[in-house]
Amino acid sequence: MSDLFDAVVIGAGAAGLAAGARLARAGVKVAVLEAAGRIGGRAFTDTASFGVPWDRGCHWLHSASVNPLRQLADEFGIAYLQRGSRQARDTHLGDRWADEDERNAVWTAIGTAFDAVKHAGDEGRDVAASEVIDRTTPWLRLTRHWLSLMSAADAERLSTRDFAVYADTRENYPVATGYGALVAAVAHKSAPSLAVTLDCPVTRIDWTGAGVVLETPRGTVKARLAILAVPTSVVANARIAFAPALPVDLAEAFAALPLGAAEKVAFQFDRDVFGVAPTSYCDTIDLHDPTRAPINFTLNPFGHAMAIGQLAGENAAGLVAAGSSSMIDFGIEALVDAFGSDLRARVTGTATTAWVTDPLIGGAYSCALPGLAHMRARLSQTLEDKVLFAGEAVSADAYSTAHGAHLTGLAAAERALALLGQAAA
Ligand SMILES: Cc1cc2nc3c(=O)[nH]c(=O)nc-3n(C[C@H](O)[C@H](O)[C@H](O)COP(=O)(O)OP(=O)(O)OC[C@H]3O[C@@H](n4cnc5c(N)ncnc54)[C@H](O)[C@@H]3O)c2cc1C
Repeated sequence: MSDLFDAVVIGAGAAGLAAGARLARAGVKVAVLEAAGRIGGRAFTDTASFGVPWDRGCHWLHSASVNPLRQLADEFGIAYLQRGSRQARDTHLGDRWADEDERNAVWTAIGTAFDAVKHAGDEGRDVAASEVIDRTTPWLRLTRHWLSLMSAADAERLSTRDFAVYADTRENYPVATGYGALVAAVAHKSAPSLAVTLDCPVTRIDWTGAGVVLETPRGTVKARLAILAVPTSVVANARIAFAPALPVDLAEAFAALPLGAAEKVAFQFDRDVFGVAPTSYCDTIDLHDPTRAPINFTLNPFGHAMAIGQLAGENAAGLVAAGSSSMIDFGIEALVDAFGSDLRARVTGTATTAWVTDPLIGGAYSCALPGLAHMRARLSQTLEDKVLFAGEAVSADAYSTAHGAHLTGLAAAERALALLGQAAA
């Protein structure tokens, strides 16, 4: 890696891969440096744990009709389920299933909370979501859970203004063979020659001179410019040093957009224990125990005898801190309440995520802290046109998503091509 590159992309998640592939297609001399031993970052389809694919990170093609990765899935013949209405799910109340009236009441409460947060943000109010949602609804724990799933943050740490600018078409389509696998396939098919150097963390970016000088354990890499496509937490936690230091307004922005917690706990069974259609959804809220947080599940995803539970916010972070077995217990207890204790004996495998403690990631997805939504736009600036930023947090209206990350990678690559004086290819 002693050569001079035109561009170096740091991080091989959805954003970095899109940037690298675009630059490779344009024929520039590009290197992609990835700290982990695999590509994809938060787009990670795990086939090792259960012998069938399940996504540890992103799984749903959000805003599918305007999602470029959905279009690429079509182009490459990668299957997804063209349904994903949030409302198409059952709700278990701790000792029984909700009836239709209760289910309607649940979704009215969730919709009302979402609308209240969006309305406040649309009006230009940048306050904590907790200040504008109805705290008297009996479904408060579920409304807070759903806000946390959307933002990875508890309502006290969720900016109404940031929430409001997210562009949601409400089409959330799950990818059959995994969204992580889709992101990897898109990179490979659109630029087969793109090489990613794995296990190669960039520890320092020197942007003093004409280009950039990057330090890695494998040596120094020089380039005319760099695209930094790592999570905000990596920068905010100073895992990469800058020389000179990051300007204060940028450092503030990286700190204002932390990655919250969203985690998964997955179970495999020796046969169908739910008796529901493939890829069914259910939510749980224990009405008898107000201290118990909700968890929601995908059941029998794509016909596999599995349940994948989703946790978010402080509850998710606390369970990760408590350890994998605590997360598994939390999940299985909710499943047992809903489907009976017989399923315990049918469990053949379990897996848990810990994004929040992964030093290369540091959480699930970015969410502006209350009062700080305006900071997201700051990530669109560059360091003297030598360091460009990409990644989900950079996206103005599709932040927190894989397609948002992908689009920021493409945008950074286009800008890099312009700066390098390359004709579009
Ligand atoms: C549990 C969970 C569920 C999700 N569900 C969905 C969903 O259904 N739909 C959706 O659209 N999105 C979802 N997301 C969010 C989505 O996965 C992310 O927004 C997206 O994948 C982020 O891509 P990225 O390229 O910005 O960052 P990342 O994927 O985080 O990639 C950054 C890369 O940088 C690398 N890196 C870090 N430090 C260094 C360094 N010093 N040097 C070199 N490399 C470094 C990391 O290892 C990583 O590979 C989910 C995320 C989680 C955690």
